[in-house]
Amino acid sequence: MKSLYDDSIAKKFTSDLEYRVYTSRLLGGDSSLVLHGGGNTSVKSIVDGEEILYVKGSGWDLASIEAEGFAPVKLDVLKNMAALSKLSDTDMVAQQKEAMIDKSAPNPSVEAILHAIIPFKYVDHTHSDAVVTISNCENGIEYINEVYPNYLVIPYVMPGFILAQTIYKELENINWDICEGIILHNHGIFTFDDDAKVSYKKMIAGVTQAENFLNEHADLVIEKYIPRVDLNIESLTKLISKEKGYDVFVKINQSPLALHYASSRNIETIAKRGVLTPEHIIRTKRNPMLILDEDIQKSIDLFEEEYLEYYNEFTSNEIMINSTPNWAVVKNYGTVSFGKNEKEASIIEDINNHTMKAILKADMLGGYKSISVSDSFDMEYWELEQAKLKK
Ligand SMILES: [Zn+2]
Repeated sequence: MKSLYDDSIAKKFTSDLEYRVYTSRLLGGDSSLVLHGGGNTSVKSIVDGEEILYVKGSGWDLASIEAEGFAPVKLDVLKNMAALSKLSDTDMVAQQKEAMIDKSAPNPSVEAILHAIIPFKYVDHTHSDAVVTISNCENGIEYINEVYPNYLVIPYVMPGFILAQTIYKELENINWDICEGIILHNHGIFTFDDDAKVSYKKMIAGVTQAENFLNEHADLVIEKYIPRVDLNIESLTKLISKEKGYDVFVKINQSPLALHYASSRNIETIAKRGVLTPEHIIRTKRNPMLILDEDIQKSIDLFEEEYLEYYNEFTSNEIMINSTPNWAVVKNYGTVSFGKNEKEASIIEDINNHTMKAILKADMLGGYKSISVSDSFDMEYWELEQAKLKK
């Protein structure tokens, strides 16, 4: 992975926040690092004599973030929150908001506490495809330890307060002189430094380590397939719209990757193994619908039946999300994404493209394995997401 840092551009910046915006955009501009609102960055600065953490605000994309996209939060408040024995994510969000010095700024990222407790000025966090591909392998723990001997490696924990608390405890015994970064299994990577350029370069170096490993052990060649079946798009659109209760925008993907994936011999089992990084589940659900023959209604019914089983198995009275699929893998044809509009369908398609590639590579490394079904449920039915539904 190439560094895009340009000293001739960077020398124009004078403030901490300007540097933060610059390297955040460099990270956000690469879809193999973050997708559609994924990842987050921060900088610690002094405002009127007080230490402030500027952390990515929710609703902002790293690719296009501006200075006003960062939420300014009192650093000591965030650090004190990390030491609490218990805190709900709802209360965490409320307390973070309360600690902002500018109430008109966006809500701070749910990973704000984690940024606060890493004792470096600049903190960068991405969901690098290469890193999560290796982590999402049957032997992911072994591989990650091999690729990242000098990183703090954290087993999967759901994002939010519990993740911040887990890392807070880990940091008690850490030797920062040798720690090059943090890997969150099945989730992503953190790098940090007091210099924005160095923190960014550490991210590039860390991701390159993963890319080199993949190039050596999982050099995927996308084969040329042609669609071998036809799909009645009109009927599919009508049936999905009816189930969802609104007119869906349907986006067909017959790229070489989508065709290669959908033409896999055992697609029935390949495609139902979960998301690449936890937050994708909000967009895509854990699995796509599988269309294996002409009977589309049968495929929808089966998906909904399985979704209901999943909901019933794990729910403790959460509001059920629409049980209709957000995308489908159509055997020997490609994939299809369903959105409220073209934008949403495109976002889902983008995520699928990255996921399919990761799955094919992870299978070359011994098998793809995402977070458990139970952890998927906790993410999909996270109290913060449920709160949006209640509104
Ligand atoms: Zn993350």
